[in-house]
Order: sequence, then C-alpha cells, then structure tokens
Amino acid sequence: MNIPFNKPYFTGKETDYIKEAVATGKISGDGIFTRKCHNFFEKRYGFLKTLLTTSCTDALEMAAILCNIEPGDEVIAPSYTFVSTVNAFVLRGAKIVFADSDELVPNIDVSKIGSLITPKTKVIVPVHYAGTACNMDVILDLAKEHSLFVVEDAAQAIDSFYMGKPLGTLGNMATFSFHETKNIISGEGGMLAVNDAAFVKRSEIIREKGTNRSAFFRGEVDKYGWVDIGSSFLPSDIIAAFLYAQLEHLEEIQSRRKIIWDIYYDGLKKLETKGILKLPCIPKYATNNYHMFYLVCENLVSRSNLINHLKQQGIMAVFHYLSLHKSPFYSKFHDGRNLPNSDRYSDCLLRLPLFYELSDSNVEMIVDSILSFYRQK
Ligand SMILES: *Cc1c(COP(=O)(O)O)cnc(C)c1O
Repeated sequence: MNIPFNKPYFTGKETDYIKEAVATGKISGDGIFTRKCHNFFEKRYGFLKTLLTTSCTDALEMAAILCNIEPGDEVIAPSYTFVSTVNAFVLRGAKIVFADSDELVPNIDVSKIGSLITPKTKVIVPVHYAGTACNMDVILDLAKEHSLFVVEDAAQAIDSFYMGKPLGTLGNMATFSFHETKNIISGEGGMLAVNDAAFVKRSEIIREKGTNRSAFFRGEVDKYGWVDIGSSFLPSDIIAAFLYAQLEHLEEIQSRRKIIWDIYYDGLKKLETKGILKLPCIPKYATNNYHMFYLVCENLVSRSNLINHLKQQGIMAVFHYLSLHKSPFYSKFHDGRNLPNSDRYSDCLLRLPLFYELSDSNVEMIVDSILSFYRQK
C-alpha cells in the first residue's frame, strides 16, 4: 500500500485545450483561454476584475505593489501561514507584524488585530486556511476604521464563502493559487482578484512589466510605453488552457473532495468526542471547500508518532507551516510576543491525504489506521 499525500487530478481535456491554444498561433499571455478563465471567475463569483498570474506568490507581489508599500510600512498577517503571504510585502520593505492564530481554527485571531494597529499599519492580510473563511466582518470593520487595505490570501479558498459571499470578493484584493496541491490546478499558477475600482487600471499595468500594453491592445491608447513599475506576472495561454479544463470540472472535483472529507470526519469524530484530538472546525459564517482534512494532535510527540505509524502502512500524512515569527529569516525582526496558537498548530497539526482519485476504501483504511493508533478500533 502506498498512498501519497497528494496526486494531481487531470480532468481529461487539459491536453486538448493546450493543443487548441497552440493551434491559435498565440501562446503568450492573455490569449483566448486566459479570457475564458477570467470570464469564468468574474461571472461565477462576481470579482470586479481577475488577472491570471504565474503563481499566487506573484499575485501577492502585485498586491504589495498596488498597496504602495514603502519601507517601514507595517503589515499585519498570521504567523501560521505560507512564506509568500508576507514575503511579498517584505520585498517592498514592509515590516510584518505577526498575529496569533485563533484557538479553534488556524486562521488569524481577529480579537488580536486591533492592538497591533499603529499609525504605520497599511494592510491586513487574512489567510483563509484550508479554505475556511476568516471572521471578515471584524477585519473589514477594523480596516475601515483605520483606513487600511485588506488583501485576502485566498490561495486555498476557491469556491468557499463567508456568510454567502465568495471568498476573495471581500477585501480590496485577493490572491488565489492553482499550484498542483490546490483543488483546481495548472501545475504552477495563480490569480489576482481586484474588487476595488481604484486598483483595476494599475493592476493591468503592473502585470505587464509596467507598461500600458493591455490598454493598447484594447485600442484605448495608440501606443504603449513604460508608465509605472511592474514585472512579468502573466502566464502563457498554455497554462490558462490547462486551467480552463479544470474549471469546467470544478463542481465534480468539489463533490468528490466533499465525499472524502466527510468519510474522514465521520470516521474520526469519536476521537474528538473522547478528547483525544481535534478535527477541523468550520465556523457558522464559513463554508467548507474541502481543500484539506487536518487533525490537531495533543502534542508534537504524539503527532510524530502518528506520522510514523501511518508511514509504516504506506500512508503519507504531513505537517504544515512552522510559525514564521520563529523562522530563521524573520525571528530577528519579530517583537518577541508569544504566539501560542500558531506554535501549537506548527507542532500539532497533521494533514491527511486528500485528492480526487483517493478511493473511499483507501480513506476508510486511513481512518482505521488512525483509530487503531489511538486504540479506538
Ligand atoms: C499555496 C499557497 C500560497 C502560494 O501559492 P503559489 O501559487 O505556490 O505561489 C500562498 N499562500 C497560501 C496560504 C498557500 O496555501
């Protein structure tokens, strides 16, 4: 038995669409498949403007430029997140002020944000961990009160909602990932969603090396030139072709992931009831997009033992982030506050295999293996 942690799922149409893209004779950025993807996202979720990027990391770097981050500006973000969430802002000279995670979910503890705001704060970056919404009303109220930007790191949050509103539509901007470990994939890939009209025009320019090339191709200007800073953030239409094949199967992908998630949850529920470990918590205001199934073990030792137990049976379960405020790179800039929940998730959170082709019987076997580890079988 060998069950990997992740296996990318191909819907079947990817290579057909790539061939179609190649046949158009135009495979650089913003071709027909890029347009199809943009239309899909704008229609389905109501983003004001979407722009495919080569990664979520790139979309975050675009967001940092759009927020006009300058050296010394402060950005509030959770410590329990992926490096790119904050590295994008560090590249522009920002100081990251890390907030702890919530007691019940790995998301940022919104009750901690207010006291971290200073006159230098410019942006709050909520990360919707595992596709579960952060408590956005509190974040948006704070942002309004202090005139801050909100950039949602929605890398894991496709097709998930906060009080009925799609994640990624709540902040000034949001960033998505189509990395092969996410629900919808293009190998590497990402997207910037812009919800604030003030950023639309500049977002196109920054993505096109600081030129007004996009406006030129729409015939809005008669020549294009260098008008701002920027970089090459747009993907080839070959990537977009792959992505579009995935988007056409979004519902099927989501419903298969839901079935797997539910088998895990129902099978492992008694471990939570008995107080042995914690299962994912989906707050009332949030939905589940079945991006991830995780456990929160009692401590680091029991998590390591469980990882080894599963590995011996050929099951790859993996831990996740290490608190960024303790990272080799950033610990020297951190102000010394303890962030106990972030550290607890670093030590105790364990992700189980979850991918489209994982069979029901394999999920049941993983459940049994975990139950027998805790002698509950
Ligand atoms: C995956 C991920 C990213 C990075 O996405 P890339 O597309 O690989 O750049 C950023 N933030 C979070 C929370 C992620 O899960």
